[in-house]
Amino acid sequence: MIGNKPKIVVLGAGYAGMMTTKRLTQQFSQEEVEITLVNKHNYHYQTTWLHEVAAGTIDVNRSRIMISDVINTRRVNFVHDTVIKINKEDKTVQLENGEISYDYLVIGLGFEKATFGIPGMEEHAFSIQSVDTSRMIRDHIEYQFARYRNETNPDPSMLTIVVGGAGFTGIEFLGELAERIPLLCKKYDIPRQDVKIIDVEAMSTILPGFNEELLSYAKESLEYRGIEFKLGTMIKEVKADSVIVGEDEEEITAGTIVWTGGVQANRIVGESGFELTKGKVNVDATLRAPGHDEVFILGDCAWVMNNETGKPYPPTAQIAIQEADVCAHNIKTMIYGGTLQEFKFDDKGTVASLGGSDAMGTVFDGNKIYGMQAKVMKNVIDDRYLFLLGGPTLVLKKGKFRPF
Ligand code: FAD
Ligand code: NAD
Repeated sequence: MIGNKPKIVVLGAGYAGMMTTKRLTQQFSQEEVEITLVNKHNYHYQTTWLHEVAAGTIDVNRSRIMISDVINTRRVNFVHDTVIKINKEDKTVQLENGEISYDYLVIGLGFEKATFGIPGMEEHAFSIQSVDTSRMIRDHIEYQFARYRNETNPDPSMLTIVVGGAGFTGIEFLGELAERIPLLCKKYDIPRQDVKIIDVEAMSTILPGFNEELLSYAKESLEYRGIEFKLGTMIKEVKADSVIVGEDEEEITAGTIVWTGGVQANRIVGESGFELTKGKVNVDATLRAPGHDEVFILGDCAWVMNNETGKPYPPTAQIAIQEADVCAHNIKTMIYGGTLQEFKFDDKGTVASLGGSDAMGTVFDGNKIYGMQAKVMKNVIDDRYLFLLGGPTLVLKKGKFRPF
């Protein structure tokens, strides 16, 4: 086959892209196919830990894994570049610094924040999207503490943090803030009561749609540690140092505003002409884009229908990782023949962290877990992924249970 090896190009080194690349290298020998992975950084990051980076409870480098440490770059051609556009008709991908062609394409470019056109959100609110945006939040919060300490008559709102949205990202971030803020207060000799952390959620409950007992547990745990909730209150506008909320257009002044109100597919997918439904591509059960059998779309760029509920699966890392297995299998099937596999989600449960020693969620067919037991389970889930990606070495280097 040398000379006309099929070219497989994977865009994005997130959960979907990394695991697909890994599986492709396991399924094919070097002589069979040419595999290219394109990513805008030379590292992969644990998106599921970004709320910890944003609050400053873990070091930035803990969440980053060099791609060359886990992907064999003699087998995979790693291209450190930014995707600009996919030209699906002539099967090429335009990069910032060149162009590549493909026979099979895997799109795993992840999510970006959805701001729903809320005025000022784009310009004035931080978001937990990448290592770089999360690090900005950590540094900004600490800067506000340093400013407050340094001024003679500091404005108290400098130490107010508003979080927009109480979905899983918002709740996990609040859990980390509840850990981090007392440490910053100590570091800057500021009383804890001078700091306000306010979450504003449009729905009448946190974690809309989740188990009521578990969400009550989460809310009480966070309130006990000083988090205030404004539920049934919509953010309508964001200004440089305030948010306008609710029907009565109350203005809350704040030194830090973080938006966790929702996500959509990376805009490149829509800009490349793939048809979007509520911001993502509806792929078929074999994970291929409609009308483009050679293009697989995975993770947060795609909706995959859950036939039991008639609704798409929510965008999670757990699903992205499982989709990678089906995608790699189906690329092999398309090259050599056979039956394409349909994606079936094996739901291992949902656990949300509430800080360093608290969490809650459901595991193994809906069993509820809370507190330290849930936190240990969350850490096991995180380390399982590291094990799948980089074996015991990666778990020892980056894992939550690493011995040092
Ligand atoms: P991503 O992981 O977002 O990866 C996309 C990759 O593409 C990135 O490496 C990015 O750098 C790269 N990229 C983007 N644009 C370009 C470009 N133009 N050119 C080149 N490369 C590009 N899910 C769970 O299942 N469990 C959890 O506990 C959990 N916790 C979460 C906590 C937080 C704070 C957040 C924000 C999300 C969490 N999620 C969780 C959801 C989960 O992280 C996402 O569903 C998952 O990251 C989607 O994986 P992906 O591979 O589609 O995209
Ligand atoms: P989300 O869409 O799940 O939650 C956004 C929240 O913001 C909602 O509760 C919504 O009502 C609220 N909101 C929207 N507009 C608003 C407004 N104008 N004013 C006030 N509130 C507003 O988004 P997310 O939390 O970023 O989660 C994205 C995906 O990532 C989800 O699928 C989630 O399950 C997944 N995730 C999972 C975990 C976990 O499993 N531990 C952790 C984080 C994220």
